[in-house]
Amino acid sequence: MSDDSRSVAIVGSGPGGMYVAQALQEKQPGCKIDIIEKLPTPFGLIRGGVAPDHQHTKRVDRKYAQTIEGGQNIRFLGNIELGKDISLGELEDIYDAVVLAYGAPYDNRLGIPGENKGNVFGSNEFVGWYNCHPEFRDLNPDLDIKSAVVIGVGNVAVDVARVLARTPAEMATTDIASFAMEAIHASPLEKITVVGRRGPLEASFTNTELKELGAMQDATTVVDGSILPDSAPEKMEDRERKVKDRILGTLRELSLAEAGQKRRTIDLAFFSSPVEIRGGNQIESLVLEKNRVEDGKCIGTGETFEIPCDLLVTCIGSRAEAIDGVPFNQNRGIAKTEHGRAKPRVYAVGWLKRGASGTIGTNRLDSYAVTELMISEFTGATRPGPSAMDKLIAERSMQTVNYTDWLQLKVLEEASASDGAPRKKFTAVADMIRALEKT
Ligand SMILES: Cc1cc2nc3c(=O)[nH]c(=O)nc-3n(C[C@H](O)[C@H](O)[C@H](O)COP(=O)(O)OP(=O)(O)OC[C@H]3O[C@@H](n4cnc5c(N)ncnc54)[C@H](O)[C@@H]3O)c2cc1C
Repeated sequence: MSDDSRSVAIVGSGPGGMYVAQALQEKQPGCKIDIIEKLPTPFGLIRGGVAPDHQHTKRVDRKYAQTIEGGQNIRFLGNIELGKDISLGELEDIYDAVVLAYGAPYDNRLGIPGENKGNVFGSNEFVGWYNCHPEFRDLNPDLDIKSAVVIGVGNVAVDVARVLARTPAEMATTDIASFAMEAIHASPLEKITVVGRRGPLEASFTNTELKELGAMQDATTVVDGSILPDSAPEKMEDRERKVKDRILGTLRELSLAEAGQKRRTIDLAFFSSPVEIRGGNQIESLVLEKNRVEDGKCIGTGETFEIPCDLLVTCIGSRAEAIDGVPFNQNRGIAKTEHGRAKPRVYAVGWLKRGASGTIGTNRLDSYAVTELMISEFTGATRPGPSAMDKLIAERSMQTVNYTDWLQLKVLEEASASDGAPRKKFTAVADMIRALEKT
């Protein structure tokens, strides 16, 4: 039998999964591809993670749409959750290979006293809330607050601080959840402190994101200029040194701004680790320890200080979960794989394979490499593929959302957007299903 009759299930329709689909179409034309996605909507964090005011970044979804729309043998099967509606063992029986691309959506914990107090959230929850993710739409953070702290100095932390400081006018051309924008606008929030354990040289935000913080309509970003080194160390590799010097230049510009000039202030605070969350049921303050950095390593000084904090969002990375049958590295919170192979005929890509780091483009290189490995390992008799999946879907009366259904939801979202906004997103799965039943 020709290899064209192979079939592959890709679990998860974020960048990791979509680049596998793209690679399969290029390298194994004719292969049947079913993309199995827990939500009725495709493309993972492109829809539910990337900041709503970064619509240019979200446009990568057009490429993913072309992969599905242009392919002959590719299907989107939304509203099916691995581990709940179907097991890995069942997928292994149906398809020649299974690629797990279900991401790493569980926030790492700080591991400090008081972490369970109210108004303390991980970035996946908080970002999911303002991005209309059905699982987080009811998060209901209390924004009747004066002081927020964002832990972490990567781009996700910068996204959260920026969105908390944006005005409705700045967000008019975005798809932020209207309930989130209303709560952010109505909030008496004055100060957002972004806290990094180490110094500005070790921070992982990019210069482009940092520059945006200096150009906010009604927020000033400040940083203590006295902690900024004159330049990146000579021993750094040339390319990295240039990147760091640009960041230091932007931070130096920000250090000239004065707090309190606009409605909100974003304060970039370095060399501090959270050690305790204080308050009653709800967070009221955060205790931090001052650090120094030696050879890139963070060393606590034992000196602590306390700052008011009514809302805390941690942006300190995330983990995947072990789904039955998936070899798993509990320490790292990722699938256990060898070059992407988790076990014979089962592979992992994206954040589930590598952990939560890198850009959208990092997934492309990785997914292509794992797809090549998978293709080289196709062997033995072919399995039944999509027809057996359809049988199982019918037997279990699964309410799947196919790609045509998604296009209908997309039209409805675009039609209900207010002037200038790209779409008004559905926030509940039940609403999506109901809307489809009416069309
Ligand atoms: C807040 C945030 C902002 C970001 N912004 C940027 C940015 O501006 N630029 C950039 O380059 N990168 C950005 N990234 C990184 C980028 O989003 C990731 O590199 C990328 O999304 C990882 O792809 P993935 O496919 O591994 O995971 P995901 O995008 O998380 O996709 C996983 C998919 O699997 C589905 N799924 C989960 N569990 C199951 C299950 N049991 N069964 C079926 N389906 C399941 C999910 O619903 C989801 O659709 C951002 C990340 C975050 C968290």
